[in-house]
Amino acid sequence: MAGIYIHIPFCKKACFYCDFHFSVSFQQKDEVVASLIKELKERKNFIGQEEVKTIYFGGGTPSVLSAGNISEILKEVYAQYTVNDNAEITFECNPDDLSKEYLVGLKECGVNRLSIGIQSLNDESLTWMNRSHNVTQALQAIDSAAAFGFRDMSIDLIYGIPMLTEDEWRQTLKRALAMPINHLSAYSLTLEENTPYNKLVEQKKYKKPNDDDASRHFEILLEEIKLAGWEHYEVSNFCKAGNYSKHNTAYWQNVKYLGIGPSAHSFDGRGRHWNVRSNKEYIQKTQAGESVSESEELSTKDIVNETLLTGLRTKWGVNLAEVKEQYEYDIAATNQTQIMEWQQKDWLEMKDGVLRLRADGFLFADYIASELFVL
Ligand code: SF4
Repeated sequence: MAGIYIHIPFCKKACFYCDFHFSVSFQQKDEVVASLIKELKERKNFIGQEEVKTIYFGGGTPSVLSAGNISEILKEVYAQYTVNDNAEITFECNPDDLSKEYLVGLKECGVNRLSIGIQSLNDESLTWMNRSHNVTQALQAIDSAAAFGFRDMSIDLIYGIPMLTEDEWRQTLKRALAMPINHLSAYSLTLEENTPYNKLVEQKKYKKPNDDDASRHFEILLEEIKLAGWEHYEVSNFCKAGNYSKHNTAYWQNVKYLGIGPSAHSFDGRGRHWNVRSNKEYIQKTQAGESVSESEELSTKDIVNETLLTGLRTKWGVNLAEVKEQYEYDIAATNQTQIMEWQQKDWLEMKDGVLRLRADGFLFADYIASELFVL
């Protein structure tokens, strides 16, 4: 079983907090599409005969491409790889791109899951983030997509925004959870280096995100998720009964995936591979038949640490017996005192050889994992 991620490196506007790879110039759009198709052909052996169960268009903003472009790319995937009949095909999109014609086009291509970048249900916050859509467009996009038969829909929301009050955040969640969606990804605003947001903070024009506000927003998020009867299955991901993102869940469970496109990452079970982070270089190298990726072999220590980092973020936790058997490292024995202390604080539990976080511990998932790392 394997997954394919396809990175579309274009956006209409630069959201000021974003450090993903994208360009707001569309001049090289056709060349990038041609290169994606070429890379799909050339890296076929990365996956070999394994069945592809998930395909994920991310970015950037995949919805800046035409449905015709998406269809061409998907045709190449089907031509080169063995794709499961029920493969999950997710498409990240911005609400302002989801016209009726576009939704019909996506359906015809085989896209069966939408991940819509709503981010906020407050126009002031959307303007503050420099998003390209407004609340009316967000609500219309969700209604149209539901009307056109998209049953699997996820939205993204951001909390910890300086102007977002606790009450507004709670109301946003209540509205969102009543929408015809079955998945929510909610992220805390973070201040990344090399972003316009970071510059504005340095110039004292904008406020930094406040950790206490973000923690309180996270608590409200967990309260509203529980009230709505949804599942919390990864630190930032929530769904209606069992509607997990299959693609992302596979990442967290160390399943093999191939990343296509500039800046895309791949994982083959022992090594990580990453593509060049420049559209120009990506096009040149692909068209010249040169490799676009670099790689590193992971040591056993790296794999155990990654298993801790990703596993503890999910409701499935980390199977300590499996880690001991595969990597000869006994996490429980090495960290006995620390684990007991966190159990007493109700941050984590250990049941049937599986270490998993409790609701209070999710807030400290990365810290807990890093304290358990093999050094
Ligand atoms: S649309 Fe997404 S990828 Fe593009 S700038 Fe905004 S957050 Fe970043």
